[in-house]
Amino acid sequence: MSSGASSSNVNTEGVMLFEQPFARVPFENYRKVFRTTQRQIEKDFSAIQATTSGLVERSKNGGADKEDAIQTIDAMITRVENLKRKLSDLNENVGTPTQAVMKERLEHLSVVEDAESQTTPEYQRWSDTRLDRWLIDWTLRTGRERTAKKLTAEKDIHTLVDVDMFMDIRRIELGLLNRSCTEALAWCNENKAALRKLKSTLEFDLRLQEYIELARLRQKSEAIGYLTKHISWNDAHAQQIKQAATLLAFSPDTNCVPYKRLYDPARWDSLVRAFRLAVYSLNSLPTEPLLNLALYAGLASLKLPSCYDASCKNIDCPVCDADLGVLAQEVPSSHHVISTIVCQISGKIMNENNPPMAFPNGYVYSREALEEMAAQHGGIVTCPRSHKSCTLQELRKVFVS
Ligand SMILES: [Zn+2]
Repeated sequence: MSSGASSSNVNTEGVMLFEQPFARVPFENYRKVFRTTQRQIEKDFSAIQATTSGLVERSKNGGADKEDAIQTIDAMITRVENLKRKLSDLNENVGTPTQAVMKERLEHLSVVEDAESQTTPEYQRWSDTRLDRWLIDWTLRTGRERTAKKLTAEKDIHTLVDVDMFMDIRRIELGLLNRSCTEALAWCNENKAALRKLKSTLEFDLRLQEYIELARLRQKSEAIGYLTKHISWNDAHAQQIKQAATLLAFSPDTNCVPYKRLYDPARWDSLVRAFRLAVYSLNSLPTEPLLNLALYAGLASLKLPSCYDASCKNIDCPVCDADLGVLAQEVPSSHHVISTIVCQISGKIMNENNPPMAFPNGYVYSREALEEMAAQHGGIVTCPRSHKSCTLQELRKVFVS
């Protein structure tokens, strides 16, 4: 019992590495509420300020009477009351629920901090919920919304998964697939500051696409109007803007490569990908499902070169399994600080007392076994796997480091 204690300790830091997006998504949502509130307040207050200075100005010039002053002040009061109503609606419908989500998620994570070991029932329950979360993340990313909703309801973990965010993503992507940038542009507008910080070119790409569509319809003056109104000149996009301007000289069936490429409908698919990438980086979400990342991490810790060698499959090893082996193909092999090599002939451990010896073709067996074989066959040793023979002297000693 005592030896198992250290290995079952919770690796809190490692666990938390995966949880950044889990905490980040509601935080980003809350930041959006905050920004909307701020914008609303700024807008209304500057209007009120302008009205006040107007009134002061008018009364100085003797142009404002008592009636005018009362009317102006009443209008200001109505404006402030409206603002108050808007803000409390926003807080009630979005702010408070988002705060509740943040609180529940942090409480969920605190279970890990408090867990004494991985074997406690609390931790086990937590890690079951984590698996449910990852499964829902996977179903949402792969377009299986109905399964995601069903699983969410069944496990009652609405606040711990991002169904709404992915439904939003889906809605905007469907818009793009139906060749409309409207929804995606509205999203860009909502997240303007964050996207600028990320140096995202999504908005530019969307604007360019709307321009290309006007060019496709040969609505040249509308296209020029759009270009001057929505695509501002900047050095980062200079080449693209020049090309876009020239596009009008080419018809949609052109064979001139750069312009043919601009007219290519496949650009819509790349817009879908660019949009998803922007949403993911905004929320610190990895581009791959969390479930895959967790599986990769587990597989990488088990994978050995021998897993792909049909002659040394280990039935207890998941990487040796044909299906999981495919998933593990791209992950690095595990690093073994202390490894034991077992001789395939004698089954004995090879070490400095019984060092491994290599045939010219690279197959390795223990010196003890080979010396025994040589003694029985007049100094000749034969590799049991490749059936190649040579003299004992031709073998090379292998140093294990
Ligand atoms: Zn294996």
